[in-house]
Amino acid sequence: MINYGRQFIDDEDIQAVVDTLKSDFLTQGSKVPEFESAVCDRVNAKFAVAANSATSALHLACLAVDLKEGDIVWTAPNTFVASSNCALYCGAKIDFVDIDKDTWNMCPDKLRIKLEESKQKNLLPKVVIPVHFSGQPTIQEEIYKLSKEYNFIIIEDASHSIGSSRNNEPSGSCKWSDIAIFSFHPVKMITTGEGGIALTNNEEYAKKMDLFRSHGISRDSNILEKNDLPKYYYEQHSLGFNYRMTDIHAALGISQLRKLDKFIDTRNKIASRYDSELKELPLHLPYIAEGNKSSYHLYVIKVKDTFSKQKSRDKIYSELIEMGIGVNLHYLPVHLHPYYRKLGFCDNQYPVSENYADNALSIPIFYSLTDDQQTKVIDSIKQALK
Ligand SMILES: *Cc1c(COP(=O)(O)O)cnc(C)c1O
Repeated sequence: MINYGRQFIDDEDIQAVVDTLKSDFLTQGSKVPEFESAVCDRVNAKFAVAANSATSALHLACLAVDLKEGDIVWTAPNTFVASSNCALYCGAKIDFVDIDKDTWNMCPDKLRIKLEESKQKNLLPKVVIPVHFSGQPTIQEEIYKLSKEYNFIIIEDASHSIGSSRNNEPSGSCKWSDIAIFSFHPVKMITTGEGGIALTNNEEYAKKMDLFRSHGISRDSNILEKNDLPKYYYEQHSLGFNYRMTDIHAALGISQLRKLDKFIDTRNKIASRYDSELKELPLHLPYIAEGNKSSYHLYVIKVKDTFSKQKSRDKIYSELIEMGIGVNLHYLPVHLHPYYRKLGFCDNQYPVSENYADNALSIPIFYSLTDDQQTKVIDSIKQALK
């Protein structure tokens, strides 16, 4: 089975992990800060706070902006549940903005209309969480403009988009946002096993995320209430968590980050081959908006409505799995999960996301996907769409 995504680990990665295992510190040593500054340098952000997952980092971001009960958060339905769950962890209310039918990202026009309507009802969001779906950046400068007009905070769920850029601005630079989150799960562009990171140019947010990731405990003499005591002394100032990344994971991350450019180049080459070899089929292929460079975390094909009447996506899915092609769906819209339905969401609320999810398939794309495997993927799709 050729899975839709997989990690690439070489001898340097293995050696980096082994070296850390043999060192004095497995956690809270020098590797996490080294990884944080390497990611900052790569994406041109001022501060980074690494965590044990992107889910934890999203929660840290919500805590840093002081998200509370009664606050409202908006994200897109076409995402992994973590983009939305982070709001619920803080007791906030979640709502969604439908996607654009071409980019499959949160639609800035629909966002503007929903903001206008919500202003009348006094239901404006405190935080909006755009997701750079599949690695394609959202039209972030427009969302940023709206954030100034309607006074909301932007936390980018950039889990798919390390290595992407918009108008040459790297994803994660936070030029058009307050905080951005990357994921280092093995199917993402680079991996730490499990792991995530929050980037920001706001020092106060960075300090808060750093405190919340480690129990709310501080040893910083500038903020301790008593600072005349020996070094063993520390204080807990807020109710934090243990969301720390280990040095073992960070060592892997440092080594992986050195390969990011070649990973992204290869993913883009595979995407252009798919673009040209699948273009005659009854499929919508990824549409990349002007100014965007995608990391191609995912390559999604969407069966055209006319064809899906003849053969459903689920039938095509089963046939491809049968042929050894590990296709998948990203994503079942968040609002349609049983947990979210219990919060009051229902069918037909976000029709573009729902139509997308009825017809989409993620096909294999990753660094070590060979030419022959790509050919097999292409031939199998042609076969299934006959
Ligand atoms: C992978 C992913 C996450 C969660 O990342 P973890 O590191 O697995 O916690 C969040 N949001 C999106 C959009 C993702 O794809």
